[in-house]
Amino acid sequence: SARPDADLLEGLNPQQREAVVYRGPALLIVAGAGSGKTRVLTHRIASLLRGREAWPSQILAITFTNKAAGEMRERVAQLVGNASQGMWISTFHSACVRILRREAEQFGFTKSFTIYDSGDSRALIKRLVKEHEADAFGHSPASVQSRISKLKNELEDAESFARQANMSDPAERVFVEVFGDYQRALRKANAFDFDDLIGQTVYLFRAFPHVADVYRRRFRHILVDEYQDTNAAQYALIHELTRPVQGQAPEPFEQGGMMIFEPEPQGGEQLPGASLTVVGDSDQSIYAFRGADIRNISEFERDFPGAKVVLLEQNYRSTQNILDAANAVIRNNFDRKDKKLWTDAGAGAKIVGFTGYSQHDEAQFVAEEVEALHRAGLAYSDMAVFYRTNSQSRALEEIFIRSAVPYRIMGGTRFYERAEIKDALAYLTAVANPLDDMAVRRILNRPRRGIGDVTESAIARYADSEGISFRDALANASALGVGPKLQAAIAQLDAVLAEASEVMLPATGELASPTAVADGLAMLLEKSGYRQALRASKDPQDEARLENLDEMVAVAREFARNNPEGTVVDFLAEVALVADSDDLDDEAGQVSLMTLHTAKGLEYEAVFVTGVEEDLIPHRISANEPGGPAEERRLFYVGVTRARKRLHLSLAMTRAQFGEISVAMPSRFLQEIPAELIDWRQSPGDVNGRGGTQSRALNARGQRSGSGNWNSRLRHDDPPALKPRSTSLEKFPNRIPAKVRDNGDMVLAAGDRIRHEDFGEGRVDAVTGEGAKRVAHVRFDTAGAKKLLIKIAPIEKL
Ligand code: ATP
Ligand code: MG
Repeated sequence: SARPDADLLEGLNPQQREAVVYRGPALLIVAGAGSGKTRVLTHRIASLLRGREAWPSQILAITFTNKAAGEMRERVAQLVGNASQGMWISTFHSACVRILRREAEQFGFTKSFTIYDSGDSRALIKRLVKEHEADAFGHSPASVQSRISKLKNELEDAESFARQANMSDPAERVFVEVFGDYQRALRKANAFDFDDLIGQTVYLFRAFPHVADVYRRRFRHILVDEYQDTNAAQYALIHELTRPVQGQAPEPFEQGGMMIFEPEPQGGEQLPGASLTVVGDSDQSIYAFRGADIRNISEFERDFPGAKVVLLEQNYRSTQNILDAANAVIRNNFDRKDKKLWTDAGAGAKIVGFTGYSQHDEAQFVAEEVEALHRAGLAYSDMAVFYRTNSQSRALEEIFIRSAVPYRIMGGTRFYERAEIKDALAYLTAVANPLDDMAVRRILNRPRRGIGDVTESAIARYADSEGISFRDALANASALGVGPKLQAAIAQLDAVLAEASEVMLPATGELASPTAVADGLAMLLEKSGYRQALRASKDPQDEARLENLDEMVAVAREFARNNPEGTVVDFLAEVALVADSDDLDDEAGQVSLMTLHTAKGLEYEAVFVTGVEEDLIPHRISANEPGGPAEERRLFYVGVTRARKRLHLSLAMTRAQFGEISVAMPSRFLQEIPAELIDWRQSPGDVNGRGGTQSRALNARGQRSGSGNWNSRLRHDDPPALKPRSTSLEKFPNRIPAKVRDNGDMVLAAGDRIRHEDFGEGRVDAVTGEGAKRVAHVRFDTAGAKKLLIKIAPIEKL
């Protein structure tokens, strides 16, 4: 007889099918990249819903990024339609926020708690390090922050750590104090940092079993993608959620206007723990530095007795050449189970290799190759460029802007990290969570109101002595002992915040208007004088800041459209959770630029892995970390396996980095790839053949000095197999910039006319940015609107 999920199984291979239809307490799917792990999870969810084995509300699926969650939700909806509503598909962090919002009052927080992103916690830690003069003991804000984060990921809190710390060591004592103060400050501000979201949820479940039971009854199917990157706290959370429930009549709860009744355990029996499905690939574990532990995979069978294990080996993403390269590299990690990926997609194109003289030269190659692929019919959105460190994106961006290649940066300097955006969010936070002193202090003198440090301290002292929040102290301006001008400034800020609260925080039972957040934000920015200050400024960057604020208000309007009942608290939570790999602007038609870490789980037709050099990948900081080089190899493996059809590996001979120009060496990972898989457009050897000084410089590094050039280093056992491509220079005549252009001094203003080498004539609409980053917004007569980096764009003023 036909199964209700028969069509879901079509097009899956036998192992994948098995993983979709297996029913039991625990299922582990281990498989290499691109073998359909995420797809299997998605189909498994759909199969549970189709067969009416689970309500949507009984499913909790965990993904690594919000973007991945969105994709999975969409895919499930395609497979089962409306039945998908009410499922929790989210990251660990988002799921915990939802739980904490409901339960925070159980342990002394309010529902409207703030989430501190890593910038916020850094700011707080910085202040505490200063107060405790902790830098004298070798503690920097960065080191304290990462240590606290590591401890929290191990579920170690300030008190438990203090009990076992070596308090006779003064440096250790200071750290314990800072950690404790940090935790107290968070609590006082009614705030959680990122790590707390997980750790405090675990704490909540352990301290309040009846609360945990509510969620254990509710989630009967828990599915976790990218399980290899879960850390101890996340692991504990899964464990808590999958424990059996003692028999008791379950309470029905409301979900989307419906009462949901959970399956009732029979006569005092236990309700067994939720069924758990995890998928992972230990070769793609790249977050050990954040406490992720591959052992979660290898010990799964021990921790969840009776677990079923399914292995997948067929890869559906990439061509065989790409897989051969990936397999050849990862084989060099010794502590792994060998698994070989194969595909029936055919060998496909060879991997393209390229060595530039400099990172600009390398970037030029990438841009030209992107354009060539685009002309051949590939959409920009099907291409991605990866790098190891964020700073590498600059050279790429410059060339992309100059060559008018549309691109977007995923992660990196994010919209939400800009000062004006953080200010806008602080205004909203001051309204949503008046206990958050950090937020109120941040906006105290933004825009400038003449309120300096002395006044700030006076307000803080008053708040302390009265036992009230900083925000409440503002309402008593006359009691602060400051002059009348300052009193007026403080009272004015207080009035603006109060007025916004009325707009955004309706009285109990009253329905806020869906646009309340956007309206309130616009009002705050106007009445606080923030926008006016930017409008009045002569700094050209302030114009861009105004645009960003407009964008922020637009984000709030968009939020209102998607969440008609969403409050300012929900809005702030959503913003805080926008993960690294997520981007506001998800337009098609742009090449994606991102770090290798961000690339996990994604796939593109064409991929460029850039900067394939020693000290970058493997990164030089990894050399001293135990397991560091192996983790870097996995990271490279992640990058390579993102490509479906075309893979480009590029590097530069010299690289300006860490403030100096240094000679770069090809990454050891390049040598691990069989030479016959790579077609060198411009091999290291070509470059040496023409550039004697560089060749000497390389040999001067003394590594394998017997070899004359990089070709022979790559395959030392057979003669250089990499033919220099004679055409490379003619084909790319402008690869090596004839002269380094520098229009840094060119004065441009709105209204000026210019001529561009490729785009012809046009009119300048605006100039934003400053110094080397000045950007001209130009409307060309025929080529349309473009943004150009003035310093390097091939333009002249008419
Ligand atoms: P990663 O380890 O990179 O996260 P993954 O194992 O999660 O990879 P998926 O992203 O699920 O792999 O699948 C990779 C690609 O292969 C996707 O485009 C997916 O749609 C496709 N795919 C998976 N299984 C099949 C199949 N049986 N038939 C056709 N295509 C498939
Ligand atoms: Mg996946």
